[in-house]
Amino acid sequence: MKIITTPDKRLREKSEKVRQINFEVLDIINDMRKLSLDWEAKHPYELSAAMAAPQMGVLKRIIIIRDDMEDKKNAHFTALINPEVTKTEGKTVVDFEGCLSVPKIYGKVPRPLKVRVKAKTEDGKEIRIKATGELARTLLHEIDHLNGVLFIDHIRDKSDAFYYMDDKGELLPVKNYEKDVRDNKKLWGEE
Ligand SMILES: [Zn+2]
Repeated sequence: MKIITTPDKRLREKSEKVRQINFEVLDIINDMRKLSLDWEAKHPYELSAAMAAPQMGVLKRIIIIRDDMEDKKNAHFTALINPEVTKTEGKTVVDFEGCLSVPKIYGKVPRPLKVRVKAKTEDGKEIRIKATGELARTLLHEIDHLNGVLFIDHIRDKSDAFYYMDDKGELLPVKNYEKDVRDNKKLWGEE
C-alpha cells in the first residue's frame, strides 16, 4: 500500500459505500493509519491530520481524522465510515490546505465555518459530529476525496491562491516558484 498522488485518475473517482464493517475494512483502516504516520515521518514540517481511503487507491467511503491535530506525539486517528455531510453553517472562511496526494502544493481554500457529519465508527456505532473551524475544514476536505474532489478544485482565483512548501518548511507563493506556469493545473500534473 502507498499514498497515490495527482495525476492518478483514482483520486478523481467516486468511492463506494461500505456495506459491512468486516476484517477487510478494519485492515484498510489500519493501513491508512500506518501510511499517514509513515508519510509524517518523512515530512518533518507537516502533520498528517487526516486521510481518505481513495488516497491509497481503495475506492471505499472511509476516512481517518487525527484526534489531536496540533500534537504529533498523539498518533491516534478516529476512523469514520460512510461519512455524510448533513449540514453546513456559518460564514465562509478561507484558510490554507494541503493534501498528502497533492505533493508540496498548498492553497487558500474557502469552506463553511461549521459542519455536521453523520458516520459510523469502526465498531458500527452511528455517530453525529458538530465541528467548527479546523476540524470542520478537515472533515469537508476528506469527504470531498470520497467524491473525487480535491482542495485545488475549490480555488477560484488561481492567480495567487497557491503556495508551495520549500525544503525548510516555509510556504511561498507559487508565482515566485514557477513564473511561466499559466495554468496551475500543471503544478499538480493534471494537465
Ligand atoms: Zn487530501
